Amino acid sequence: MIRKPLLILALLLPLLASAQDLSYAREVVDTLASKSFSGRGYVNSGDKTAADYISSEFKKIGLESFQRGYFQKFSTPVNSFPGTMELALNGITLKAGTDYLIEPGSPAVNGSFSTVTITTAEMFDLQALSGKLRSAAGKFIVIPTYDKGSYSKEQQQQIQGVINFLRYHPDNPAAGSVIFTRNKLTWSASTRLNAKASFTVHTEVDEPTAMEKVKVNVKNKFFKQYKTQNVMGYVEGTNTDSLIVLTAHYDHLGMMGSDAIFPGANDNASGIAMLLSLAKHFQANKPEYTTVFMAFGAEELGLLGAKHYVENPLFPLESIKFLINFDITGTGDEGIQVVNGKLYRDKFDRLVKLNEEQNLLAQVKIRGEACNSDHCMFHQQKVPAFYIYTLGGIQAYHDIHDRSETLPLTEFGDYFKLVKAFIDGL
Ligand SMILES: [Zn+2]
Repeated sequence: MIRKPLLILALLLPLLASAQDLSYAREVVDTLASKSFSGRGYVNSGDKTAADYISSEFKKIGLESFQRGYFQKFSTPVNSFPGTMELALNGITLKAGTDYLIEPGSPAVNGSFSTVTITTAEMFDLQALSGKLRSAAGKFIVIPTYDKGSYSKEQQQQIQGVINFLRYHPDNPAAGSVIFTRNKLTWSASTRLNAKASFTVHTEVDEPTAMEKVKVNVKNKFFKQYKTQNVMGYVEGTNTDSLIVLTAHYDHLGMMGSDAIFPGANDNASGIAMLLSLAKHFQANKPEYTTVFMAFGAEELGLLGAKHYVENPLFPLESIKFLINFDITGTGDEGIQVVNGKLYRDKFDRLVKLNEEQNLLAQVKIRGEACNSDHCMFHQQKVPAFYIYTLGGIQAYHDIHDRSETLPLTEFGDYFKLVKAFIDGL
């Protein structure tokens, strides 16, 4: 009578465990990508809200800390858009984040402006270009869409050069610029403040209607020294000579005005979900090597949290046996990709073997070096490191659509199992 339910429970336990992993991961992603975290940037102290949440999870899990508390503080210049964000073209008001993005380094701008349009033909003719620029003083410059495919590489560089001049050069005589594109809108973040405001406007048509009037009101807030932080803790292993380090950035792009939030569910609430799930696991199942969990800030500003860490390490970098960075962990329909796989071929091959033995992910793809996430700062200091990200599924990235509601966490459970097994054999 007693044995039977126990037996069933024993059979169910592995299933229950993986369901729990997934429900915790889901809770973490839902929380970090929720409205009250303001996109984990530099509006409403979104970064601090996220760091506080991760710190409280570390505490609940029971991680040790290197110093008093889990924070490692640092500061950085950063531009932000906490307030008014209005753009109207020819009297039609556009929707921030959906119809347009502001160049992240843009200053405040307010007023109604007439426009000067510069065509690609004029960009290739220096005399025409300089004439147009002179005539644009105090006005907005408009760049229509262009089809990259119909221009040579040099011509494309020339076009990009003009756009960069309009966006970043202090000698741009115009009051600002509007650049049309048919591409998906992809935002970023800036530690610099540009001289002039610039907008990228999405359009489905080849030649948007002639723009005669730009009405704009944007407020920015530039911080010379924004105080932000890394969050780090560890589980002590039986072998304390060398360490395993697991990393993920928690920051994202924040907000563009008071309405457009960039929730960053896949980038990188999902990576923090992996980091916290692994912290829980290794706290309950003590690892052989001391295992450190690092949640970095300011990755989107140029890997700044990781950079600060390698410049101010809490233990010698040479003692890191291996580092795994998780950034974009929310899909996996087409498997995973391993940056630095080609550099640590034996480790990569073992990952592939584990995946095949346990029949987990569709594929484990190899890649060489790429300085595209926090692992790079460690790699440059000769720390052996992988950066792994999931492939396939939803393509939302650095936009308002990277939301928890539409992030499937398709292969999260299997990916988690694979990583666990990989770390156990390091
Ligand atoms: Zn990221």
